[in-house]
Amino acid sequence: MRTQAAVLYAAGTDWKVQDIELDPPRAGEVLVRVAAAGLCHSDEHHRSGDVPFAGPMVGGHEGAGFVEQTGPGRSSTARRGTAPWRTRT
Ligand SMILES: [Zn+2]
Repeated sequence: MRTQAAVLYAAGTDWKVQDIELDPPRAGEVLVRVAAAGLCHSDEHHRSGDVPFAGPMVGGHEGAGFVEQTGPGRSSTARRGTAPWRTRT
């Protein structure tokens, strides 16, 4: 599915809000419809170059939303409600 994300390609560049392709949830994962998210100071460390990363990366590892779909092995009992998350880096 297509969605939007804040993407950072390299240290010293600006975040770029753009369309990205999102895979369906894999085993143990959930698909979350994001209600709110933000870029925090941890994200800024990557942009400034203080914390190296292998780009491109999607920022906004803190947020809340609603679980829309579950991958294999995930319980369907938590399909609705807020879901704080962290992204993998
Ligand atoms: Zn943070």
